[in-house]
Amino acid sequence: LAAKLGVNRSTITTVMDELAADGIIESNFKGGTRIISNTWTLLLSENSIWNRYVNLGSFKSNHAMIQAINRLEFTPGILRLGTGELDPALFPSELWKKAVKPLENIPSLNYLEASGLYQLRCAIVRYVTKFGIIATPDQVLITSGSLQALQLISVCILSADSVVYTEAPTYLKSLQIFQSAGITLESIPMDEEGILHHRLPRTDQRTRILYTIPTNHNPTGITMSNQRRKALFEYCGVNRIPIIEDGAYEELYFDKQHHQPIKQMDLNGDIIYLGTVSKTLSPGLRIGWVIASEPIIDRLGDVKMQMDYGASSVSQWIMTEFLNSGMYEQHLEQIRTEMEKRRDHGVRVLRQYLGDRVSFKSPAGGFYIWMRFNKKIPMQKLFEEAVKVGVLLNPGDIYDYAPTNALRISYSYLSCGEFEEAVKRLAGITKRWFEV
Ligand code: PMP
Repeated sequence: LAAKLGVNRSTITTVMDELAADGIIESNFKGGTRIISNTWTLLLSENSIWNRYVNLGSFKSNHAMIQAINRLEFTPGILRLGTGELDPALFPSELWKKAVKPLENIPSLNYLEASGLYQLRCAIVRYVTKFGIIATPDQVLITSGSLQALQLISVCILSADSVVYTEAPTYLKSLQIFQSAGITLESIPMDEEGILHHRLPRTDQRTRILYTIPTNHNPTGITMSNQRRKALFEYCGVNRIPIIEDGAYEELYFDKQHHQPIKQMDLNGDIIYLGTVSKTLSPGLRIGWVIASEPIIDRLGDVKMQMDYGASSVSQWIMTEFLNSGMYEQHLEQIRTEMEKRRDHGVRVLRQYLGDRVSFKSPAGGFYIWMRFNKKIPMQKLFEEAVKVGVLLNPGDIYDYAPTNALRISYSYLSCGEFEEAVKRLAGITKRWFEV
């Protein structure tokens, strides 16, 4: 290129470095380089009519590292060691064909009721009884994934002077949604049994709510003990703290003696329960649900109609068929068995390659191992070095209010062979921090 342009080779290198520093190009681990921003807009930004508008909206931008992860996830061949999704190879293609078959006779694809397809709400009501949750179809709202449920909550029943207590660390996207709504977040520490409920303030002048992921927590993998669930429920009842219980990983237990949701204790409607099929079947369906008392469901449904006129009706019909035919439960059995196998393999491989450089607990279900380094590691550097060797990491810092020195390792996305390869490469690049 230098010869073609008739310039010095070092000039090209300097230009490339500057473009990379400005976030216009990005090098990948295969030695290739690609344009990652709209250079045209960038070059014209001084004069562009949109220049003043582009960041005016109330939603905050993603953390730079999250933006990088979102981009790099689609780099062909990269090993995604932190991705919170099922391996695409586990998608139940045969069951899927059966589930979409009834769509041939679908009555219509018009807009649906504000709270979602009645048949699906009935199917969910029947389904959640196995967790001890008793609800009526009027107490169920179908959402476009449970992330939307959090967004609805943040704009319908909380205001900018509200406070949301969360576990520290927690599911990062929930933090962003609440933050974008101007809501104050307060972190509550956890131990191996879950959130330390007695650290929740007994009183607060502000409207407040607790957001918790008691089962197979994202990102720590911790499952709250039964004792802690009971204590937390009682504590919140006495101190009048309403709860959002996020059950995204509820069904991914490995032990037959699994825990029941806190919602199952709730006779007064103090808990808003969130469910989703994103971690068990497919995030692409965008199907989640809220179980709460009718006034909450009506309010969220009313605003959801303003937002998007309802979750995809195609997805809702498909999900109804999955639930009513028993195919969903059949599929879940397979996923649990597979995830348990991958958890065991993941734990073994991490111990084998990283040994005493790290500490972690083996989770009882879900997707994640929260792996702490036993020595301070520069996370940004580690992230960049990993990308260079073809591994995409989810550093713990994106899940917390303060630096964590941890990684969220996920065994759900990569096959066992790929997982081992990714850990081998990770061990290779972390070695130098432990040799000194
Ligand atoms: N809650 C938790 C704890 C999650 O981990 C996720 C997905 N990462 C969600 C909610 C949102 O999932 P979806 O919107 O796809 O249902």
